[in-house]
Order: sequence, then C-alpha cells, then structure tokens
Amino acid sequence: MSSHDEPTGNKALAERDLRVLWHPCTQMKDHEAHPPIPIRRGSGAWLEDFAGRRYLDAISSWWVNLFGHANPRINAAVAAQLETLEHVLLAGFTHEPAVTLAERLVAITPPGLSRCFYADNGSSAVEVALKMSFHYWQNQGQTGKTKFITLENSYHGETLGALAAGDVALYKATYRPLLMETLTAPSPDCFHRAPDESWEAYSRRRFEDMQRLLARHAHEVCAVIVEPLVQCAGYMRMYHPVYLSLLREACDRHGVHLIADEIAVGFGRTGTLFACEQAGISPDFLCLSKGLTGGYLPLAAVLTTDAVYQAFYDDYERLRAFLHSHSYTGNPLGCRAALATLDIFEEEDVLARNRALSARMARHAAPLADHPHVAEIRQHGMILAVELVQDKAARKPYPWQERRGRRVGQHALSRGVLLRPLGDVVYFMPPYVIDEEEIELMIRVAAEGIDRACKD
Ligand code: PMP
Repeated sequence: MSSHDEPTGNKALAERDLRVLWHPCTQMKDHEAHPPIPIRRGSGAWLEDFAGRRYLDAISSWWVNLFGHANPRINAAVAAQLETLEHVLLAGFTHEPAVTLAERLVAITPPGLSRCFYADNGSSAVEVALKMSFHYWQNQGQTGKTKFITLENSYHGETLGALAAGDVALYKATYRPLLMETLTAPSPDCFHRAPDESWEAYSRRRFEDMQRLLARHAHEVCAVIVEPLVQCAGYMRMYHPVYLSLLREACDRHGVHLIADEIAVGFGRTGTLFACEQAGISPDFLCLSKGLTGGYLPLAAVLTTDAVYQAFYDDYERLRAFLHSHSYTGNPLGCRAALATLDIFEEEDVLARNRALSARMARHAAPLADHPHVAEIRQHGMILAVELVQDKAARKPYPWQERRGRRVGQHALSRGVLLRPLGDVVYFMPPYVIDEEEIELMIRVAAEGIDRACKD
C-alpha cells in the first residue's frame, strides 16, 4: 500500500503518527491519554481537524502566524515564487526575493542595522549572532573576549549555543555538561517587583546588577543577549523598556555588543513593529524569525551594523570571513512569504488595529485579576499572560507536578480553543486577524478552564 492509500481521519492519523513520529517538546507518554490532534486545514485564526472540529489558534501556532492560516495574499506570493525558483544556494549566487527582503528589513529595523545575514530558524539566528559577535572581537585582536552575559529566565532556542545563552532550567538543566559557560544577570522580570513598586522602578533596580556584571567582566565579554520586553518561553515574564535603554548605554560604555533576540517579539507582538523601538535603541545584532514569514516557512535573519560587517571584510588569505552557513539560508519561498507579510504591514494599519485588539484583550481578561488563584495579569501589546498560583497573597506556585496549566489547555481544547500554557501561565498571543468575538471566546474559555483547574 503506498502512503497516499493509508487511512486518514482523526483516529487513523493519530495512530499512524504514534507509530513513527517523535514530537517536539513532548513527553510522548502523555499521548497515551491525549493523542495528537490531526489538523486538515487552517483558515484565518482557525484550525480544523478531519471531523470538522475547529480550534481557535490563540497562540499563533507557537507564535509564528501573524495574518491567519492560508492567508490568500501570502499563499499567492508563495505559489507564484514556486513557479520560478524554489531554492538556490546563497553562496556565490543570489536571487531577487533575498535582495529585496534584505533591503526592506534594513529599511524597517532600528537605525544603524545595515546588513542582513540569513539563516533558517530562530535558534540558528541566535547561533549566528553569538558567533559573529565573538568573531568580530577576534578579528579586532580582542582575543580575551570569549563570554556572553545572559538574563536569568531567558530563552534563545534549543541548539547548544542558543541553549547555553538561555536559562530556563526545564530545557537546559540536563544538557549543562555540554554547554558553554555564561554570565547570568538577574532578570528585570517585573513579576518580582515590590507591591507598591512600578515596572519602571523595578527594571531600573535590576539593571544595577547588570551594571555591576558589565563593570567587572566587560574585558572578557563579547555581548549581552536579551529578549526585549518579554521573556516569552520564560513564562511570558515582562519588563519595562527603560532596562533596554540603560543596557544600550552601558554596552556602549563598556565596549560590549548588544544582541536583541526579537524572534518571538518582533513584527508587532509588543505593540511596535520591533520591541526595541519602545526603548528608542538599536542593537548591534537583531535576530528575527517566526513572524518574519507570517508563520509560513522557516526563515531567519540577523541584522547587524556596518562596523561589524567591516571587521570581516578583507583579503581571503587573512582568513577573517564569516564561514557560517545553513543549506536553506535565504530560501526564496520563505523570502517571498516574508515580502508578502511586509506588504500587509505596509498597506494595512496593522499596528493601529492591534492597539484596539490589545485593549479588547485587556478588557476581557481584567475580571480574572480577582480570581483567587490568579497572581497577575500582564500584557505588552498582543501578548497577554495570566499567572496562576496556589496562594495568591504569598504568590506561592502550585507544585509543578500538578500541571494545572496543562489542565486549562485540555479544557480549552475540548471547547475549541488552542491554548498551550507555559507551566501555570496561561497566555494569549493570537494572530492579528482575530476578531472581537474570537477574543471574547478565547478568554471566556480560558477563564472556565482556570476555574476548573484551580478548583481543588
Ligand atoms: N529565541 C526566542 C526568543 C524564541 O522564543 C525562540 C522560539 N520559541 C527561539 C529563539 C528559537 O527559535 P526556533 O524555535 O525557530 O529555533
């Protein structure tokens, strides 16, 4: 029997899946109770299974989708590209979508970022930025700079370099013997602020630790790497833009690069096109992926400055070139999807519409603040998170083994909403095509789930 004769349908596909697949970020044994959900098609903010059951994609399929599934405009752009060129290597060759996309990224990203290096997923973009920063200092003769400063609770991906730069124990602890050592500064995450302390005051206070670390270690540090404003995989913890302004100034003063990982927060998630804009800063490296292609295809870009570029530009024999590569670097289909995505940003007032949607999300979620097991509701633009705790007054978390957040997710699925809480943090990061009724549904179902999950 050839593969296209194999049975489909929800049950059949899930069974076939569990015989051969190994899913990402999953304890496969969990699938004994909850098999994977086969999706046949998507449209707008919705996914549909083989029985016609629909799921509202409240987390943009791992934060990638911006303008809906099967978006007609992006579909057409990718289909047209497919007719002419599906892929060509980007070493020694180039193509129009890669060139135009680089031009447009340089134009829309913060000032001073004038070079675009492509990769093919978020983690590989982080690897590029780490290696480029290190290599820059080597090329400058500063061979003692071999370390990176990272933030507590940060997340930058799963490949070994990116994992080393991150700090979420759940993903990192097992692999620690394989990872480079980093210097870790306390997070400006405002969940920990004093009851009467503002976000700004807390983020400023936390910056003092970073300041000390830089003063002590700048001579051996290549770069500081941060996720601007929201530590997404780190339980959607958030901080104030002032931290980024202070950090930019201190990195300049100490001769250390600043790497902004906007893989999750870029392309409008926090309210501005890039989160760095809220602090009025330009990093030395800006990592982009996820929403770059509107959630269609794996593509990543690292934007950097002319100063970095020039440190590698030399006669070949001097062996200063950045000889890093991935096979699918700058894939034309991905670049075309990205260009169509940027067209939508350019022609529709996406950020203004998102401001209205964010306000609506805030309004619907507000009553949850009174829930006896909700410690905090926090929001930056189109990202809103609700943190569940066992004891509200003491902010004492539930034992992680109870998997309360997962119960919320399971309830939501049974009601046709795709949520995927991070631990006990229920969050919403929907595609920008979500409408007001869908926002109401998404939050109502989450609230029901929270009630049930926190009952006993
Ligand atoms: N950096 C950040 C901030 C991310 O959120 C992620 C993915 N969740 C990554 C890097 C890694 O991207 P990818 O999964 O495409 O490797």
